[in-house]
Amino acid sequence: MNKNLRRAVIAGNWKMNKNRAEAKALLAELLPMVKEADCGVIVCVPFTDLETALEATRGTSVAVGAQNCHWEKSGAFTGEISAQMLAEMGIQYVIIGHSERRQYFGETDETVGRRVRAALDAGLQVILCVGETLSQREQGITGEVVGLQTKVALQGVSAEELQKIIIAYEPVWAIGTGRTATSAQANEVNHLIREVVAGLYSKADADALTIQYGGSMNAKNAAELLGQEDVDGGLIGGASLKAPDFTAIVNAASGK
Ligand code: PEP
Repeated sequence: MNKNLRRAVIAGNWKMNKNRAEAKALLAELLPMVKEADCGVIVCVPFTDLETALEATRGTSVAVGAQNCHWEKSGAFTGEISAQMLAEMGIQYVIIGHSERRQYFGETDETVGRRVRAALDAGLQVILCVGETLSQREQGITGEVVGLQTKVALQGVSAEELQKIIIAYEPVWAIGTGRTATSAQANEVNHLIREVVAGLYSKADADALTIQYGGSMNAKNAAELLGQEDVDGGLIGGASLKAPDFTAIVNAASGK
């Protein structure tokens, strides 16, 4: 079993939810509940909540992440936020390549790769999302799609930099739909991603890589998904907005 070579990480993706007061209230409820977590815990909040989340989590083991960053350091990119800006604030993590960015905001494998590069250069850690659509799964090309997304995003990333990356396998058909991949499906694709990474780097590098599953993970199904050999944590959308639900997932990852 190589599972114990890597750290389980549970990350909440709040998406475009929670104003400042709501963010403060959710964190005030959540932080005492996850105090004893035996896994990494990250909250990825909207840009407008970053400062609030940093303040609330100061002195705790909960890390704060953003949900996107641009690849340039600064310039005429209206509406964008650079990785540098996030790092300067004290943000540790950034989600890159979430399927909602790919689906609604024209993200491509190439722009995802550029954002990964910029995030690493700024000293941020990356949660890199990959995943197939339902029609791609039905066509039987899940492996090709996810493998290509992984390869393009990791182009130019050194083995040392890979240690700053978490990959989140998120089948698009399972995100926000209540339709979860079976634990066997999640494990199969996570394993495949690990093999792609082993081919690009080494088996040792791949064995050390945290690969999350994301897609309607909740308090009820978390233990089974997280019990799979190649599932090292979760990227959690809907269930991260309720402290007891998110805590149940953190506890499942902590073996409690
Ligand atoms: C996500 O947005 O990354 C996600 C997995 O959402 P949900 O848990 O709501 O499916």
